[in-house]
Amino acid sequence: MNAGSYYEATAGDRPLRSTLEAHIDAEVCIIGAGFAGLATALGLLERGVRDVVVLEAEQVGFGASGRNGGFVFGGFSLDCADLLAQLGPVSAKSLYGLTRRAVTTIRERIRRHAIDCDAVEGGALWVNWFKDEAILRRQQQWMASQFGVAWQFVGATQLRGLINSPRYSAALLEPDAFHFHPLKYALGEARAIESSGGTVFEQSRVTRIETSSGATRVVTAHGSVRARHVVVAGGGHLHGLVPALERAMLPVATYVMVTEPLGDVLRELIPSRAAIYDTRFAFDYYRGLPDTRLLWGGRISVRDRHPADIATFLKRDMVKVFAPLRDAKVDYAWGGTMSYARHKMPQIGRLPNGLWYGLGFGGHGVAPTTAAGELLAASIAHGEPLPSELQRYGLPRTFRPAGLAAAQASYAWLQLKDRWREIAAL
Ligand SMILES: Cc1cc2nc3c(=O)[nH]c(=O)nc-3n(C[C@H](O)[C@H](O)[C@H](O)COP(=O)(O)OP(=O)(O)OC[C@H]3O[C@@H](n4cnc5c(N)ncnc54)[C@H](O)[C@@H]3O)c2cc1C
Repeated sequence: MNAGSYYEATAGDRPLRSTLEAHIDAEVCIIGAGFAGLATALGLLERGVRDVVVLEAEQVGFGASGRNGGFVFGGFSLDCADLLAQLGPVSAKSLYGLTRRAVTTIRERIRRHAIDCDAVEGGALWVNWFKDEAILRRQQQWMASQFGVAWQFVGATQLRGLINSPRYSAALLEPDAFHFHPLKYALGEARAIESSGGTVFEQSRVTRIETSSGATRVVTAHGSVRARHVVVAGGGHLHGLVPALERAMLPVATYVMVTEPLGDVLRELIPSRAAIYDTRFAFDYYRGLPDTRLLWGGRISVRDRHPADIATFLKRDMVKVFAPLRDAKVDYAWGGTMSYARHKMPQIGRLPNGLWYGLGFGGHGVAPTTAAGELLAASIAHGEPLPSELQRYGLPRTFRPAGLAAAQASYAWLQLKDRWREIAAL
């Protein structure tokens, strides 16, 4: 198996960006070059704010943003039913709408900045693992009535023409979704920031933030940035930088593998161009890649896992759906760390000491990070208020390490519930 991720191996040449080695001033300093930080920087530059500096501890896209499944679709880690139950129809629809707009923003940025990121327009198929068709009918009816989105029903026969596996009973197609190479997109965003006048430093971990009235100083090993506004967008990788934020977040890992090129077999098994995920709580997600490999993801854990172990358990999951792939070789396997709040909603706001933050996007973050970037940029540039519906989720404590053990136990419980639903429907 290759070391590193498929995305790293196929991202092409990347420029060597400088490390911060001076004491500089900026209007806005952003900590973290994942999708949240990059989208905030682009949003600011698009609103006419100059002098935007992004500091990245490793390299652009080092975190979850450069390692994820590449699904670009509306919604949050908190599912729509819970969002509706917690906020009511008007607020839930309004927040969901932010993520739908973010999908459009991503498409527009790909076009405007000519970002070559293997984007595939095929929608997302939500395939039913269970026999009970009511799951899909309910969801379809409810996405239309409450969220104003038309998900299309795909019956068993039609689905066989899209996914050649007996595993699923039917599906819903979300037509407005697409999938892409997330690391190429992150690198494209960084290039767009630089060509719009912003600066991105790599290998520049922020080790301290000093806040005082008027300006904040952000310190790295070899330099510092004094800025009027500082945005913390470090995902699950902050490692003690801002305890007030990290107390409210759990770093949780999830996994991806990529097979060897499958040639015609890929299209025989998956004629669909859609990104695919299933109806279980602990779902699989997968998509065909342009070079006929299959990317497969799933599972969460609070532990580090070795690539060989990841390949073993994800391949087992894949073969349950596509038995003909039992001899397919796995060429890449990797994990990534997500940041989760207890309430599973993004944390977007401002601390009493003036620090802005955009964190907690969990396992469904490509569109929400872009939405967060837009909200933060509009607030910083034009003083627009952040949505009150989001503020009410707040920063509840996660009580690590007990919170991590609870997250693992709750995932195991959800897996059990999936199994029970499966047996009950037989
Ligand atoms: C395996 C996997 C699959 C996923 N699949 C999908 C999917 O298909 N679709 C979807 O919508 N979502 C998916 N997600 C979730 C999504 O990737 C994340 O929610 C999103 O990328 C989070 O972006 P971020 O910018 O908040 O964090 P990150 O991408 O983790 O970026 C944070 C960055 O901040 C940097 N940083 C941290 N601390 C410092 C510091 N002190 N100084 C400087 N820099 C710092 C880190 O090095 C890192 O680069 C997946 C996640 C994983 C891990």
